[in-house]
Formats: sequence, C-alpha cells, structure tokens
Amino acid sequence: MSTASKILKLPFLRLNRAKAAEFARLQALNTATANTILALPHDVRRTLTSKSFVHVEIGSAWINQTIRNTNARTKVRQFRGLPLETNNQNWTLHKVGATYSVSFGVRRGIKKRLPLAVHQAAHQPWLEAILAGRASPGSIKLWCSRKGLWYACLSVSMEVPDAEPTGKWLGIDRGHTIPLAAATPQGPVMFWKAKRLRHIRRVYAKRRQRLQAAGKQRAVTKLERHEGRIITHINHCLSKEVVGLAQRCGAGLRLEDLSGIRSRSRQRQTTKTDAGQNRDYWPFYQLEQFITYKAQLARVAVEKVPAAYTSKSCHRCGALGTRKHHAFDCPRCHYHAHADANAAQNIRDWQGLCCPLVLEAPADGAHDLPLHMVRKTAGS
Ligand SMILES: [Zn+2]
Repeated sequence: MSTASKILKLPFLRLNRAKAAEFARLQALNTATANTILALPHDVRRTLTSKSFVHVEIGSAWINQTIRNTNARTKVRQFRGLPLETNNQNWTLHKVGATYSVSFGVRRGIKKRLPLAVHQAAHQPWLEAILAGRASPGSIKLWCSRKGLWYACLSVSMEVPDAEPTGKWLGIDRGHTIPLAAATPQGPVMFWKAKRLRHIRRVYAKRRQRLQAAGKQRAVTKLERHEGRIITHINHCLSKEVVGLAQRCGAGLRLEDLSGIRSRSRQRQTTKTDAGQNRDYWPFYQLEQFITYKAQLARVAVEKVPAAYTSKSCHRCGALGTRKHHAFDCPRCHYHAHADANAAQNIRDWQGLCCPLVLEAPADGAHDLPLHMVRKTAGS
C-alpha cells in the first residue's frame, strides 16, 4: 500500500458578491495578523498560540494555522496576501443531490455551508471517497484567483494498493528532439512529437524579448505565467496518454533517472539561443511527477533506470553507436534507427547493465565458458 495525495481546487458555486467581499476582508485580516507575527522577535514567535489573538475575529483553528505557516516561512519579510487555511478537523464535506458542499466557520462561532462546483471529472471519485470514508481529508485553503474567483483547495490522501509487476515494461525516453518516445512490449515505438511545444516556446520567447526591451516587466511576468499554464496542460495530456498506453499494454513504466541532466548534457550556445531548442526549458521534471502520480492511481508500476548510455548504445548488440540528429547507426551490426526509438528500447530492456551484453567467441577459439553459453559470431 502506498499513499496517494492530491489537492482538489474547487470553485465556490454561485458565490455572491457579499460573500466574496467577506472572504477578501478576512484574508486581509489574516495577512495583517501574519505580518504582526513577522514583526515579533523569534523567541516570542515560538510561544504564540491562538490565545494571543483573541481580539481577532478569525476563529482559533485558522489562526493556529496562520501562526504555523508564518513561522515555517523563514525568508519572508512581509506577506502580500496569506490565504486562510485550517486543518482537517475544521471542515466537513456534504452532498445534497448532485451538489457537493463544504462547511466551515472562518469567523468565531459562525459556521456556514457553501456549495462547490466540480469542473473536472477526475475530482469526483476523490470527493466520493471522502464521503465514504475511504480517503482522509487534509487541510482546506481559501484561495482567490487573479480574476477574483474564490476556490476551496482541499488536500486529500488515500491509500492505494501497490501495482503488481507484470513482467512487461514500457520504455519511456524523454528526448530532446521529441519529448516522448515509448517502446511498447510488443515492439513498436510510439512517438509524441513536440512541434506545438517548440512553436509555443519560440512565439513566447519573441514576445517576451519585445516586452523586455520596452521595459514592461509586469507584462513579461504575465506572459511567463500564461506560457507555463500551456506547458503544464500539455504535460498533463502527455502523462495521461502514456499511463493509458501502459494500462492497455498491461505493462509497467520504465523511465530514465534524469537527476542532474542539466549539468550533464551540454549544448552549443548557438542552439541555446533558439528557445524551441534550448534544453534548459524542457519541463522534464514536471512531466515525470505527473506520470508518477497518474501511474500510482492507475496501479501501473514505475521503475527508474540509470540514464547512462541509453541513447548511445545499440539496442540490438550493445555496441556504442554514432548519432547524427535523429539517426542512430551501429558500427558493428549496422542497425539503423531513430535515435529516440533506440533509446526507448534500451530503457525497456534494461537488465541492470548499461547496455545489453552479447558474448562472443574469440577468433582463436580459446575461451573459459561452456560452449553452449557462447554465441558464435558470423566470422568464427
Ligand atoms: Zn548494433
């Protein structure tokens, strides 16, 4: 058993202006309280409890969390806005008809029930699991978007049975020329191409340059956020498809261990200036996280294998090959393939070695191994 956790971001359904204004007022009050705490010396901060803030109209459960959140952030000098948050004991989930609602009391002694809208179909099983007692609720956070919409961010955790190994693997190569290549256990390699991703990178880089030259820093930040959201969306789609493919093949996922890829892979400066090609921007880590948590929920096993030599060695004979752009060539067995397809197959067939090992009989016929364990090469 392993624990899967998720944060459900659910907008409040038909929240009227008076309630939104009330939330905004209470958040401002919360921020002011947090800034008061920040102004205190460290030894005083540690002794604070909700009793120190009885004069504030926010309930003690919320104030306790504010104290904890503030003390946890050691580098902040002042908060611009600190969302209200409290732990699992201070909110309850209900379901009336098809509508979910959450009840909590921010102000002392006043508890209200507010309906929530479920936009994503994936969120519903989690809410049902909370109601049935299969999932354990965590904290609740009241969060306001830049557009002024209020959300309840509910953190939930659930025990998920471990994936059973099937003995079959889907080799995933996250390349630079294409973001994903998946070698299926049956043989064929699937590609997810990055044309759109590259196009987005280039278009946004150009816009960013223009804005930066004009000195519009706020517009640049806004643009970066927008781009980030698109990339996150693409990563969500990619990871969902990969996990779906693994389920259909009845296989586990094998990924390369990419820790330290930035320092290892070098690129020419001229290539780096092209935003579509620059590897430093590729969102590999996020993609990996998405794949991992989606696989956990779908009961698909995930294994990480060392990345060394996966793209350099030949999938058929293990010899070091040459790579030119997309093409991989083996000097020994003359295997010719797409470089990422070759890498994906190497990852799929990983056996604890950097590359598959083929034993060869020496040309003079002298060897230590029994004859049946030695595969003879064509020439001997
Ligand atoms: Zn070869």
